[in-house]
Amino acid sequence: MTRPTLIISLDFELHWGRFDKVPIKAYDAYYQTTKRIVPQLLSLFEKYKVEVTWATVGMLMADGPEEWLKFSPEVKPSYQNLNLSAYKWYKATNETNSTLFAPDLVKAIIDTPGQELASHTFSHYYTMEKGQDKLTFQADLKAAQKIAQEKFGVKLSSLVFPRNQFNTEAIQAAGELGFNSVRTNPVDWFWKTPEKGELLKRIWRTSDSILSLGKKTSYQLQEQKSKKPILIPASRFLRPYQSKLGRINQMKVNRVIEEMSTAAKNNEVYHLWWHPHNHGNHPDESLIEVEQILKHFAFCREKYNMQSKSMYGLAQALQQVC
Ligand SMILES: [Zn+2]
Repeated sequence: MTRPTLIISLDFELHWGRFDKVPIKAYDAYYQTTKRIVPQLLSLFEKYKVEVTWATVGMLMADGPEEWLKFSPEVKPSYQNLNLSAYKWYKATNETNSTLFAPDLVKAIIDTPGQELASHTFSHYYTMEKGQDKLTFQADLKAAQKIAQEKFGVKLSSLVFPRNQFNTEAIQAAGELGFNSVRTNPVDWFWKTPEKGELLKRIWRTSDSILSLGKKTSYQLQEQKSKKPILIPASRFLRPYQSKLGRINQMKVNRVIEEMSTAAKNNEVYHLWWHPHNHGNHPDESLIEVEQILKHFAFCREKYNMQSKSMYGLAQALQQVC
């Protein structure tokens, strides 16, 4: 890149990314808060002129059960563990909970300058689960493309793999359907094969958000420019504010700020990601943290000519160079 670049990608999924882990009833207020905070995040991004990629689960673009069914693909995921299937979960719960669907927020994302509506698959699809195959994965992606195009007139360009699970075949399958950029994992060992989730790796990843345990998180992207889709590694997961962590919350923000400065001084890319629902427990404190980070970006833009790009914007810029 000719300029240092900040990328922010958000995995917007609400309960569709968590139905196999937590009961929806216990999280009603959490999702209501998440929905309330999305417009506030959009206002902050607009205020600081920051481009953000909103990798959105296709199912939440529907306005309710009927549209959900209308856009669902005929071919469903063939996981051996069917408890990972959003279709199975939704049919079994018979849930009409309004927190599951958010087409109004998708519209708000599209209407905010610089924001990219991207994909987090249609059903929060897991490409590394036993039993899944290319046919069902591509059927899922096509369903995501269809709902984004028909309801919002958006051609999806960037993809974030749910639970950061992917391999070369999955990247290639997405590329065949026209996806132009995908988020990949940081290069450190504790991010390899995240689907295995070993305890040590998880502890290490958590500690690394406060202390410097891994390698440098920012990077150069020049060598990527002939690839399609372009691979855009994540640098850092912005962990949620937690009241029990006290001062550690600020240490975590400081770490992001230091890493962004390193990227800015070295003409590198720094890619921050999180989920909007991570703000569901402590919305006020979370927004303060996000604004601190955006303010630091504004400083880096002024001092080091750092730019903000969505994944789409970065891919476009790289392809124009080549
Ligand atoms: Zn997800």
